[in-house]
Amino acid sequence: VSLLVAKFGGASVGDIESIKNAASKVAQEVRRGNKVVVVVAASAGKTDKLIDYCKSVSPRPNPREYDSIISTGEQLSAGLVTLALEQRGLNARSWMGWQIPILTDSDYNKAHILDIKPEKLLSRVEEGEIAVVTGFQGIAKDGSITTLGRGGADTSAVALAAALKADRCDIYTNANGVYTANPTLVSKARRLKSISYEEMLEFASMGTKGIKPRSIEIALRYGMSLQLLSAFGNDVGSDMPGTLITDKDHTMENKPVKGLAYSRDITRITLFNVKDQPGIAAKIFNGLARASVNVGMIIQPASCSGKLTDITFTVSKDELARAIEIMEEEKDKIGFVSLQSDKNVAKVSLIGSGMRTRSGVAFTMFQALAEKDINIQVIETSEINITVLIAEEYLELALRILHTTFGLDQEEAG
Ligand code: ASP
Ligand code: MG
Repeated sequence: VSLLVAKFGGASVGDIESIKNAASKVAQEVRRGNKVVVVVAASAGKTDKLIDYCKSVSPRPNPREYDSIISTGEQLSAGLVTLALEQRGLNARSWMGWQIPILTDSDYNKAHILDIKPEKLLSRVEEGEIAVVTGFQGIAKDGSITTLGRGGADTSAVALAAALKADRCDIYTNANGVYTANPTLVSKARRLKSISYEEMLEFASMGTKGIKPRSIEIALRYGMSLQLLSAFGNDVGSDMPGTLITDKDHTMENKPVKGLAYSRDITRITLFNVKDQPGIAAKIFNGLARASVNVGMIIQPASCSGKLTDITFTVSKDELARAIEIMEEEKDKIGFVSLQSDKNVAKVSLIGSGMRTRSGVAFTMFQALAEKDINIQVIETSEINITVLIAEEYLELALRILHTTFGLDQEEAG
């Protein structure tokens, strides 16, 4: 018998059909002898609507009341899923965050979980009752309802799984797993059977959808295995149809590259002829930091004259105008001669913890791009990723050739 946490996101409780389908998945798990704790989000769009309601009454709502209002979407989902389970003849009961309780700090709107007391819930689950828990919500010391930040139902699920010492936490979503590359751009992309926490964090930070980085961090800390799988169709967690996120590697031969990620939401700024002396980089990035402009990649070559150098950095598309404005304002202070920016760029990353122990991955990547005459503008690496900035028009070509070069195409993928 396994104890499973099954989390259903907004789309998977978005309408009555989906709610019934979610209940049928839970029922199948129970029929196989598993104990199940369900965690639900509000139905898709519901939380946005509740926020609109709040703001139409009060433009700057009191945070305590705001949280108690925007957490109600989850209460509705939990109740409906419980009823759907009862309709199937199962024994189920809904639990609000405060009924468990899930204790948080008082940072309304972005509260952090301090402690979960699982005993009450666990004793009922052990007697064969299915628990249906509201995601996203908790309770502060003073008894006020809090919420964990947008998308926080994943966090609830993983934290609850850890507190219950569950065997696995299944995240049912419309992203039905993690792929070696985006299948809409790379037709030979494949779903991965398993992936490590650190690789998943890299994918998530590059914008791969399905699960929030914050919940992956919790899973990593507690060694909780997560499975990303489809909320639609007939997939059931225990058949392991999705991608398992875990610390153990379940593939026989660990390829150096697990998959490719990319982003088009990036632009490049280069400052030419900046003085090569202490304090210049600090001046540039101080201005950007004060304006809360997030900088991605940064590159500064060693200057050959020892006097002048260039500095290149990247920012997201909607921050480009602001970043240029700040640079122009501080032009004299920084002391660059000219500025060039480029919107038509994209970045491509190779991700894989196998890179740590293999040499030549970067060389292989650069050579494959060179063979297609794709110019690399900026290179950035971490222990488990290599990222290049290229012209946006070459993005799809680069993804396809790298996918083939690193043995990720179809049946070859791990
Ligand atoms: N309903 C909440 C939100 O939309 C929590 C979640 O969906 O994870 O942010
Ligand atoms: Mg959501």
